[in-house]
Amino acid sequence: MDSEEARRKYEFQRALEELEKYEGRGTELISVYIPPKRPISDVISYLRDEYGTSANIKSKTTRKNVMSAIESIMSRLKYFKMPPPNGLVVFVGHVIKRGDQTEMVSHILEPPEPVQSFIYKCDSKFYLEPLKDMLGQKDIYGLLVIDRKEATIGFLEGTRVEVIKHLESMVPSKHHQGGQSSRRFERLIELAVHEFFKKVGDKANEVFLPVENLKGILVGGPGGTKDSFLKGDYLHHELKKKIIEVFDVGYTDEYGLQELVNKAATTLKNMEIFRERELLQKFFKEIKKPDGGLALYGEKEVRGALERGAVEILLISEGLRKYRITWKCPQCGYEIKETIKGEIPEKECPKCGSPMDIVDKKDLIEEYYDIAEEFGTKVELISDESEEGKIFANAFGGIAAVLRYRH
Ligand code: ZN
Repeated sequence: MDSEEARRKYEFQRALEELEKYEGRGTELISVYIPPKRPISDVISYLRDEYGTSANIKSKTTRKNVMSAIESIMSRLKYFKMPPPNGLVVFVGHVIKRGDQTEMVSHILEPPEPVQSFIYKCDSKFYLEPLKDMLGQKDIYGLLVIDRKEATIGFLEGTRVEVIKHLESMVPSKHHQGGQSSRRFERLIELAVHEFFKKVGDKANEVFLPVENLKGILVGGPGGTKDSFLKGDYLHHELKKKIIEVFDVGYTDEYGLQELVNKAATTLKNMEIFRERELLQKFFKEIKKPDGGLALYGEKEVRGALERGAVEILLISEGLRKYRITWKCPQCGYEIKETIKGEIPEKECPKCGSPMDIVDKKDLIEEYYDIAEEFGTKVELISDESEEGKIFANAFGGIAAVLRYRH
């Protein structure tokens, strides 16, 4: 996953976390999913109908809140003629604040994957499942299971296994009792196997080669057939390079693909963790040097180096939930910026003593992404799934940099 994509995914993940916290009193929270090709005028007239229907809601407050939410959606949509390439998702409603108060919130998102179908939902929570599914969509892996009787080709995308092609062989059974000499019969089998392997190889090349973001290929089957297949010249050399691991599985049909994925789960998980560990070990190795080598950690130090353009790779713990807050004095204009985790404290202006306003609140990782983008710094989000990732989060505060040059 490149930096850009990782960032989009992170921002999206955070937006979902925020939306998930909201709760409405009745069924007052409205979620609207608009597919890319749906004209906004269609959506507006749908909303107008809903607006009319909602006049019949019994509870006075719910009625008022739902109607004002629909009005708000319509007024936000009027700036569009057609939705953007992936469609639009709108969340509007009165959410419960502290005490007995409610507050109207309104979010409009361009999703990372196309919206599949039009959805309009009123509930006490926002409807987020389709967006969560999009986030779940991950790298694509090719799947191939084979024995002498049959082969199945498919894809693993996220957690979804898709069968693309099932092929059956003409290889005669070994228990053939005909009059032919056993040598001649062996030869026939060999030929038939070769033909079958060729057919499977051609099909696999046809299916896998055009997939640009194919992350790797998993191969499985019972016994040694899969190994003979791979040893031969059947699979394109570019695809052979992408084979991650070969597994023994009992089936070579659709169930075989699923079995293959189950067996490979640990390998796939480890690949991602392995990459993170390599990055962190690079950092640990540098930081152990007496002069700190080409590494830095700690928010302030890293920010400084980042703003000088000295950072090659920025390492950040994915679970870092911190904000960069800006306070401004309404009287004298004095500004303070601080990084905060949890509750945001009130501040008094150190110059004139007036209570200060919070004028900006930004997710810290997003802020780092912004600075990194300016200087072509690569950003790597690190999970805490490995031992190294945990050490990184706890002992190094989850923020570090591998430098381009000695600071
Ligand atoms: Zn002041």
